Amino acid sequence: MGLFDSFRRDKKEPPTIKQTEVEEKKPQVQIKEEVVDSAENQTKSSLQPDSDVIVDGEMVIEKVEVVEREPEPEEAVPEIENPAFKPIKTYSEKLPVTHVIGQTKIISILNQKGGVGKTTTAINLAAALGELGKQVLLVDFDPQGNATSGLGIDKREIDQCIYDVLLNDVPIQDVIIPDVSEGLDLAPATLNLAGAEIELVSAIARESRLKDAVGSLRGRYDYIFIDCPPSLGLLTINGLVAADKLIIPIQCEFYALDGVTKLLISMKAVKERLNPSLDVFGILLTMYDGRTTLAKQVSREVRNHFGDQVFETMIPRTVKLSEAPSFGLPITQHDPEGKGASSYINLAKEVIERG
Ligand code: ATP
Ligand code: MG
Repeated sequence: MGLFDSFRRDKKEPPTIKQTEVEEKKPQVQIKEEVVDSAENQTKSSLQPDSDVIVDGEMVIEKVEVVEREPEPEEAVPEIENPAFKPIKTYSEKLPVTHVIGQTKIISILNQKGGVGKTTTAINLAAALGELGKQVLLVDFDPQGNATSGLGIDKREIDQCIYDVLLNDVPIQDVIIPDVSEGLDLAPATLNLAGAEIELVSAIARESRLKDAVGSLRGRYDYIFIDCPPSLGLLTINGLVAADKLIIPIQCEFYALDGVTKLLISMKAVKERLNPSLDVFGILLTMYDGRTTLAKQVSREVRNHFGDQVFETMIPRTVKLSEAPSFGLPITQHDPEGKGASSYINLAKEVIERG
């Protein structure tokens, strides 16, 4: 047996394809061309086989050529209108202020721990003060933009936000959306703000950019609240430098005081170097569930530790408070009679009393 005999034995005989078989393929292909209804078929039909079918050894190669087609008009996806979204007004459309504004108090709401109720407090305390006749500005200073969407503003509709104030020299009035709720204006945030944390590093006066912006509004508002992000980065430092006072929300849970010491150290550092008048305005117990002994223990411990700094009012854990942002409404409008609304109204009164 010769060296190549086994090879020859294994080697398949080339299939003999009769001319008739080849010819039979053509009409099948042509039928495919005509079926263009579904998306799948459109893809297939764009690979139109050439009329030549080449028989090459074992394979039948159908020569294909890509035919450029006019793109099918995209089926219009209906925009889901969120009824919660409010029209975006400009500062020039702001309703007239009917009372004399004294000293503006700038308060940062901050705790670098996430999910403790900073934004819920920022929205609802600001709105409650607005309903009590105060002029209030809420600065959303968190790239998550939860205060912005929670007040019913569609972030996709915003051209400029607080990022542009910080880094593009845009005057803060140009980004303020007036009257998002009674007596309440909003300086919104979008995801662009996430870039600020890095871009500020090389910026001149990087710690005091927010201070300069909100400082220009003194005399126009009774209260300016700054909803800070859950970190101790440059954005939060800006929040510390811009503020006269701080509100620190603490969630009534086991790790409640985790990180608060670090936050107070940061506050002290900023106070010594950049903002001598900075102080704690109040510590707020949030998501209090009186049915659990843990919540009671935590509130007792926090009060023992911080004394009078802790607000009398505690914010209860309620479903209405957690669902209000999806309606784009503060709790005083979403569930005016509920205990969430009454607790934030009580807190607002305490804030006014503290002066
Ligand atoms: P982040 O650090 O991410 O900015 P945060 O400190 O601003 O968070 P929130 O966004 O206010 O915290 O609250 C975190 C979650 O807890 C949200 O889903 C919010 O709806 C819910 N929540 C806040 N306060 C309450 C409350 N009193 N009762 C029930 N749910 C609450
Ligand atoms: Mg938040």
